Amino acid sequence: MNIVVIGGGFTGIAFVIHAIRACPAGVDLDFTIVEPSAELGRGIAYGTSDPLHRINVPSDRMSLFAGDSTHATRWLKAHDAIDAGSSDGQGSYYVSRARYGEYVAATLDDVVAEAASHVRVRHRRATATGVRKVESGYTVTLDDGSHLDAHRVALCFGHTPSKPPGVIDEQALHDPRVITLPWAPDALRAIPQDASVLLVGTGLTMADVAVTLIERGHTGRITAISRRGLRAQPHGLFSDAADFLDNTAPPASARELVRKLRQRIARDGARIGWQPAADALRFDLPRIWNALPAREQRRVVTRLLAFWDVHRFRIAPQIHTAIERAIESGQMSVTTAGIVGISRARAAEHLSANLRRPGGTHEEHSFDAVVFCTGPARDIDRNPLVKSLLEGGLARLDAVGIGLDTDLRSQLRNAEGEVSPGLLAFGPMTRGSFGEMTGAPDIARHLERVLKDGSLLAYTSTWTSR
Ligand SMILES: Cc1cc2nc3c(=O)[nH]c(=O)nc-3n(C[C@H](O)[C@H](O)[C@H](O)COP(=O)(O)OP(=O)(O)OC[C@H]3O[C@@H](n4cnc5c(N)ncnc54)[C@H](O)[C@@H]3O)c2cc1C
Repeated sequence: MNIVVIGGGFTGIAFVIHAIRACPAGVDLDFTIVEPSAELGRGIAYGTSDPLHRINVPSDRMSLFAGDSTHATRWLKAHDAIDAGSSDGQGSYYVSRARYGEYVAATLDDVVAEAASHVRVRHRRATATGVRKVESGYTVTLDDGSHLDAHRVALCFGHTPSKPPGVIDEQALHDPRVITLPWAPDALRAIPQDASVLLVGTGLTMADVAVTLIERGHTGRITAISRRGLRAQPHGLFSDAADFLDNTAPPASARELVRKLRQRIARDGARIGWQPAADALRFDLPRIWNALPAREQRRVVTRLLAFWDVHRFRIAPQIHTAIERAIESGQMSVTTAGIVGISRARAAEHLSANLRRPGGTHEEHSFDAVVFCTGPARDIDRNPLVKSLLEGGLARLDAVGIGLDTDLRSQLRNAEGEVSPGLLAFGPMTRGSFGEMTGAPDIARHLERVLKDGSLLAYTSTWTSR
């Protein structure tokens, strides 16, 4: 069984780990992980080298294995990854994301070593440019002109960075102080310590960038803007209760969904905070999502997703405290404004940002540096591989247009809506099919569940083995 995995970030590696563990008896598995970067298990989230970029949920909730919640914490402890700043003082650890990425890669090595008699895993450093259906399965083309034949293909290519909003003029675009890819290594190098910095976006990427600046002793002003001015929220109590519905029927509309959430928070919020209600909704979301008509799903995406994201993707307490302090001291501010454009007049020292305020008024402000922290894109058809899959008819967008359409077992649906056996998609690009598929634990749990019975990987005799 040849399996090509496109993308060797968290999702690709979690796929290989769970596929090996679920491997049906008597099947030899030969994986090729197509991943351009040198290290596996990192991707965007865990590829950061900045030790201040921490996992945003405690390590006990980041295990690769649902039935062994302390697996990650044990590895991190055994490998000295619990640094002084990791602990929240209440027995939870928010380790650096780089060390968590090491845990993912090391777990792959362990699982492969245990299955060495029937499993081979290769890392092919390349970018996949297309997938074609052939008689024996699929052919994956690579950017070096070569191709790989596969019985199964797992699409795990993750996030597509968003296009910076607004218009950036030519002078500003070539200015190293305008940073459009904050996830790139050393992205903030060109920002002087006393620079006034505009951060466009107020979510988790903004939190990463702000904390890097603050902790390296930045003295200049930091202004973060977004159209709604919503910031990622801090953690409260954690809950694993998947009882949001409480034996009631799933909501039939976006409005009813919000009503149910408000009722739940009103019932318990004063006692335990709003976070357990958000977590309960999150665990029941796949069921709730699939019961919503497509029209209502679209309403959730256009009207509610931005609010949901800041409550669902919360930040580590250390990061929250650092940002709160910077706001209290007056060094940092978070403002509601949209970006219209960034320009730099020839020979001008400063960058000029045209901001649109609520109510439609425009303001012009000067900054020394601008960092776009707008996070992953929702228009994933900008990704060349997605474009090629759509053009070839092998895939279609989900009902809400934010990812690829799959069935509940993660098999891709083609242009006609039929399932393509053996062509699988996992991770954030399938969020629109499941309602939620971004956090590492959600992805790992889903993989474990759909791969468990081995049927997605079971050898099909009509497919020839090489
Ligand atoms: C900055 C950030 C921080 C996060 N922090 C947390 C956290 O603390 N806790 C949590 O639970 N979740 C967190 N998340 C959520 C995160 O989405 C998941 O944890 C997970 O990392 C998604 O992994 P992925 O492999 O699907 O995507 P990605 O991380 O985007 O990795 C995709 C990989 O695919 C490769 N690739 C892309 N296109 C191709 C191609 N055409 N051919 C070959 N390879 C390709 C890329 O090089 C990349 O390595 C965070 C997300 C981000 C962006």
